[in-house]
This record gives sequence, C-alpha cells and structure tokens, in this order.
Amino acid sequence: MNEPLIRGWCPGARRPMQSGDGLILRLRITGGRFALGLAHTVAEIARRYGNGELDLGRRGGLQLRGVRNDDYAAVETELAMLGLIDADADAEAVRNVVASPLSDLDEMAQGDAFLLAKQLEAALVADESLRQLPGKFGFSIDDGGRFGLSDVSTDIRLSFLQDGVALSLNGDARAIVVRTEDAVAGALRLAHAFLDLASRIDPPPRRMATLVGHVGPEAIFAAAGLGREGVTLAARSDAAPLIGAFPTHVGIGLPFGRLTANQLHLLADTAASDLRLTPFRAVLLPGVPADVLPRLAEAGFATASDDPLLAVAACPGAPACASATIETRDLARRLARLKPAARGIWLHVSGCEKSCASSAAHAVTLVGRDGGLDLVLDGRPTDPPRHAGLTPEAVEALIRSGTVEK
Ligand code: SF4
Repeated sequence: MNEPLIRGWCPGARRPMQSGDGLILRLRITGGRFALGLAHTVAEIARRYGNGELDLGRRGGLQLRGVRNDDYAAVETELAMLGLIDADADAEAVRNVVASPLSDLDEMAQGDAFLLAKQLEAALVADESLRQLPGKFGFSIDDGGRFGLSDVSTDIRLSFLQDGVALSLNGDARAIVVRTEDAVAGALRLAHAFLDLASRIDPPPRRMATLVGHVGPEAIFAAAGLGREGVTLAARSDAAPLIGAFPTHVGIGLPFGRLTANQLHLLADTAASDLRLTPFRAVLLPGVPADVLPRLAEAGFATASDDPLLAVAACPGAPACASATIETRDLARRLARLKPAARGIWLHVSGCEKSCASSAAHAVTLVGRDGGLDLVLDGRPTDPPRHAGLTPEAVEALIRSGTVEK
C-alpha cells in the first residue's frame, strides 16, 4: 500500500486514509459524470470489500468506506482496471477539480464545464512541478448557469462568462477574463504563482485565500503574468433548487452525503444516461421523469427540498472516526426535527474541531470534546463556544427553549 495519510493531505484511492471503520478511498470522477455500468461496479466493490457505505464529499468525490487493509491491493487493482484512478498518488492528488453538473442541459450555462474540467485535469497531471501543491488545493469550473459553485471550497475559480472565462482567486471578487482556449493555461499560471509566492512566506500558506490575505490579489495575478485589467465578478447565488423533478432532470438529496451500495445500484437502475455527482450532497439524474421520485423516497433518499435532514450537517463521528469522542448523526437527526427546514444548513455537528462535514459558519455548531458537546453560535467548530461540555439532552433543551437561535 502507499504511505498512510498525513495531516493536510486529502485521501485518494492511491493514498487511502485510515479511519475508525477501516480505509477510506476517494474516487475523483471527472466533472461528476458517473457512467451507469461503473456505478454498478463501484457499488459491488463497496459491498464486497468495504462496509457497503459510500460518502459523497464536499467536492463531489465519492468515498468507499470501511475497506479492510488486507483487501486494499485487490480494490486498487480493480479500480485501476476500470480506469477510475490515476497512475500514482501524486497525479491523483493534484487532480482536484469541481465542475457545474449540468452544462449540457442547462439553457443558462455559458460554456461546457465538463469539457474544460477534462482539459484542466489532463494539464494538471502533465505538469509535474504542480505536484507540490498542497493536498486540499483545488479548482472549480462554474458554467455560469443555474448551479453556482460559490459555496464550494476551492482555490482557483474558472467562471464562464458570455465572452470568455473569468479567472479568480478564492477570497477575492476580482477576476481576469481570458479566451476560453486560454483558460487552462491561465489557471496553471496562477497555480505556479501560488507556489512561488507562498514559498517566500514562513510558514507557507496552504490555501489561496490565505495567500491573498498576505500579498493581495494583484501580486498573484502579476506573478502569473495575467495583466492588470480586471473585472469584478457579480455576487453569484447557489440558489437554484437541486432536489425534486425538473424539465431536464430529477435530483435527490443524500442526508449527510451518505449512500449505501444498494442505493447506488438503485440510482444506476433508475437513471437514463448517467449520474451527476454534485458537491451539494445531491445526485442528479438527467432525462428521468418525475414519477421515479416516490420509489427513490422509499429507498431513503431526500426527494423534497424542505426535508429537514438536508438542513443539518454531521461528520461520521464515533465510532467510524478515531478522532471523534461523540456520536454525531443520530444526534443531528434528532435535532433536525426541531426546526422547519430552510435553505442552507442551520446545524453542524462535528465530532472534533477538524470540521470534515462543513468549513462554513452555521447558526448552531456542536463540537465534540472529551465526550461532551461545545456549542458555538454563528461560527465554526474552531470558534469560541457559548457553552461547553453539554450533554445531548442539554443541547436539545436549549434549542427547544429558544435559548439558542433556531
Ligand atoms: S470532524 Fe473530526 S471526528 Fe468528524 S470525521 Fe473529521 S476528524 Fe473525524
């Protein structure tokens, strides 16, 4: 097996992560387009070698969970034969691209995010000097249509406009517009500029937003040779509804991003062309009629956008994760019922400060610490708590009483 995961890396399939319930292998599926035959095969691999559960990650990656160490070599070989993983762990690590899921069907899309994602991934893998990029460093390709990617954690953003592609840096609204055919080269130049400028700072920033805070966006664009004439990108909403039936597709939600092998088989059986994995804990089925929704709801998928479970986030917690000292998802399910669902996540239950389920601030955040729960209001797990060492019952009582904002 490849060397075990160290802090700051993201798990892959070539470099899995050891967790409390076995190895985690993350598949990076280009543009989130998952062919139906592959989906069935991956479901079988998850059942045969893992614990039969998969997670859809915050960047649209699909994780196999609970793979036994002794079975890893067999899984790696099967995934390689399917063409689902890269030649080596370093190539896999740099291929960190999220793209809008429905460029081919969304009449408002300004460009083909899937095609650009394929081109960008190939260029990233070919440029060996970019393998020094930090593990979480990533790229997003927004097609300018109904599904914005502004909520996705990324570092270099490529956004289709009517007249080209805007290149921007996470943490800043300014952008340089280039021709579509120059977008990949421009993104790579920004990545090189990041490595160069970050290396002059001690300790080197590991994310673009941190570097922007140190040197400002102009210095980064200048180091990339991308000129001074920029535009300011308009604020973009991710508000397009994802869940339910639409003229182009059906969308279903995955509470906590989790699905079972059986559910993946069902999705592949139900889909018409392929599955679209999104970074929003949702899977889209293009060209599928609305009458499939009751069957998918029966199988445990969220099929209505006001499902309360879509308004809460929770990492796997104990016992699945060795860093956790609390159970997370049953608690989140219980608390989800206390508030009518609204758009966005109001509650985040995190087994520890690492914040695997969400890096955003939420109205209520619960963080496990030494078996108790710290409660943070309007913040993240690393922010100072309003209350510390609570029991689940005490948290529930506080929320019911209205003592914390609901
Ligand atoms: S947030 Fe902590 S407890 Fe939860 S999955 Fe991540 S490392 Fe584990």
